[in-house]
Amino acid sequence: MRHTIRSTRRLVVKVGSALVTNNGKGLDLKAIEGWARQIAQLRQDGREIVMVSSGAIAAGMQRLGWSERPSETQALQAAAAVGQMGLAQAYESAFSRHGLNTAQILLTHDDLADRLRYLNARSTLTTLLELGVVPIINENDTVVTDEIKFGDNDTLGALVANLIDADALIILTDQKGLYTADPRKDPNATLISEGHAEDPSYEAMAGGVGSGISRGGMITKIRAAQRAARSGTHTLIASGREIDPLLRLAAGEELGTLLFASSTPLASRKQWLVDHLQLPGTLTLDAGAVRALQEGASLLPIGVSRVEGEFGRGAIVACCDENGRELARGMISYPASEARRIIRHSSHEIEALLGYAEGPELIHRNNLVLL
Ligand code: GLU
Repeated sequence: MRHTIRSTRRLVVKVGSALVTNNGKGLDLKAIEGWARQIAQLRQDGREIVMVSSGAIAAGMQRLGWSERPSETQALQAAAAVGQMGLAQAYESAFSRHGLNTAQILLTHDDLADRLRYLNARSTLTTLLELGVVPIINENDTVVTDEIKFGDNDTLGALVANLIDADALIILTDQKGLYTADPRKDPNATLISEGHAEDPSYEAMAGGVGSGISRGGMITKIRAAQRAARSGTHTLIASGREIDPLLRLAAGEELGTLLFASSTPLASRKQWLVDHLQLPGTLTLDAGAVRALQEGASLLPIGVSRVEGEFGRGAIVACCDENGRELARGMISYPASEARRIIRHSSHEIEALLGYAEGPELIHRNNLVLL
């Protein structure tokens, strides 16, 4: 599969906090310069690159002289605001040495959950790429709270890859890739060179979360690969401490772990539906409705036994079986209060119950994605 990486054109490169800040010691300008040089070369070879860079909080902490990561949200948000200035400065000057402009993009989960803002972000990013600019993305840490966070930049990297239909997502980290077990604890752990992004055995191999500096760990990287695979994007996880990892990975060299996407990519609107991280409502389906959905039908009110949450018409909701397992998600045609009134009824009763009918389906199959 490595040879397919050679022909990839559009790449998202995600670099983690530990690399960007030299394990929290301060911005690693040499490393940043190295990525800029490699990306400049990849651009010359006709590739388009978007960077997702962590490190704002870690760099801010260092600038403010804090040795320990604070736990209060406000302190973290303040550190991110300070650190983001340093990050932007460092990237801008490193890329300008290669004649490349950079653009700073700070995103929140809401930006991607709202269809219009999602499409706006997409067209801005593609315009920047056409202009030959290297967009540098981070989460807008200063305004997000726990409930509305992407959570970690591995997830953000995957969502950005889906947003711009990237061919590959490269995650540079401080480990060599995915191992069969945690290499810090198990001497028999071996590096997995390549595999299917959706192979269920990987999650168990990935172990716990990352170091004190980074938010994610190997597990968030595997989940990011699964997400990216849904839009046909391959994921590469490799050590950012190797020599020229970006050039070598792009050349198809066997470095780190390649988690390839083999399923047919979802249409982009369905991809957007699946990529919602927080859903305002849950529908519980009876066994008949579960079967109908799996056979490709729409969701009718008669097959729904419970509606949880508060949401308006057009919200993206989870569809669960009676054991609470989410099997699909979709855009619902009725608000929560009305959905509660029509469930367990057949569709021809909707008009009598509500005084109008938006359509016979609670969720039309065109707005539904099976997971
Ligand atoms: N957005 C955070 C930062 O820039 C990092 C999140 C992460 O490490 O995944 O500091």
